[in-house]
Amino acid sequence: MSVPEINLVFDEPVQRKKVPKHLADYSPIERRELATSLGLPAFRATQVATHYFSHLSDDPQSWSDIPAEMRQSIADQLTPKLIELVRSVTCDDGMTRKDLWKLHDGVLVESVLMRYSDRVTVCISSQAGCGMNCPFCATGQAGLTRNLSAGEITEQIVAAARACANGELPGGATRLSNIVFMGMGEPLANYNAVIRSLRNITDPNPDGLGISARSVTVSTVGLVNGIEKLTQEGMAVTLAVSLHTPDDELRDTLVPINSRWNIKEVLAAADAYEKRTGRRYSIEYALIRDINDQSWRSDLLGRLLKNRNAHVNLIPLNPTPGSKWTASRREDEAEFVRILESYGVPVTVRDTRGREIDGACGQLAAAEKTRTD
Ligand code: SAH
Repeated sequence: MSVPEINLVFDEPVQRKKVPKHLADYSPIERRELATSLGLPAFRATQVATHYFSHLSDDPQSWSDIPAEMRQSIADQLTPKLIELVRSVTCDDGMTRKDLWKLHDGVLVESVLMRYSDRVTVCISSQAGCGMNCPFCATGQAGLTRNLSAGEITEQIVAAARACANGELPGGATRLSNIVFMGMGEPLANYNAVIRSLRNITDPNPDGLGISARSVTVSTVGLVNGIEKLTQEGMAVTLAVSLHTPDDELRDTLVPINSRWNIKEVLAAADAYEKRTGRRYSIEYALIRDINDQSWRSDLLGRLLKNRNAHVNLIPLNPTPGSKWTASRREDEAEFVRILESYGVPVTVRDTRGREIDGACGQLAAAEKTRTD
């Protein structure tokens, strides 16, 4: 029996107002064409890209290489503001900041900026909502609203880079060093916009932010067709696979797309990615008390991964409102780690940044929706 192909760009449930065009939606060559199509000289695209990606400037009045009377209108045409800050919440002495953004059609998405001693990471959204329906994830509960454009994704990253440069986090001005696609949405289900955003991150100034691909992590439920396509892009970003259990029976319920691509197929695609890029991949594993944290599962995971170039990132479950599930007991978590390590599998337990600000994926947007409904 032939299995129907799953589109990498999912059909959106409703026809919406088109997102305004932004130079971040296009390649550097297309940006010049965009400028021309708007009746501007092509070189304006390069000037504006320099202000946007190299100087992180959102104040056209400071764009001194463009005649003063044209600045605002050129900015409106090439770098329209696609995301508007609704509110920010901070915790961890200000070192973690979660921003809630409103898009041009009122849709809400969130990003989280986290400062550590050696790096600053932003966790960004690639979709409003998510169609993957994982039962422990806040975003999954509401379903997919729509894909974000490359411009909307890139705007979250540029806003984070600007916050770092402006010294908005305690500790003074710094540089954004890492980007993780671990906010709302399934990045590989919005493939083209995510790839354009990845190029905006990694292209050198002024075409992009000039951040190295190895500092970027794309996290997926395991859409094998998307992983295979990403393998061909020749970009060595870090791949993270949300496995959450080593057995198909439970994974069918925790990550429902497993019934389309099972664990064996997902790991084979991740192995091929690793072979092509030379990048060790991550296995994401949310530890859920008495659901997936038994020592036999750790043992099975250890056997599955011992000869692979993979690293396990254990995430204590952040219970979503009303969830019947909770994080594992400390001793079960420690035993899980010990067994994996006995197989020589590298393991880290993710710190729980942002817990008290609804840090789990999708929780802030869900809370805001409840407030305004
Ligand atoms: N769709 C992508 C990115 C989403 S979020 C993916 O599934 O990989 C990034 C990670 O956070 C995923 O591993 C996801 O399973 C995990 N996650 C989602 N909700 C969580 C929760 N309540 N507690 C702990 N981890 C969670």
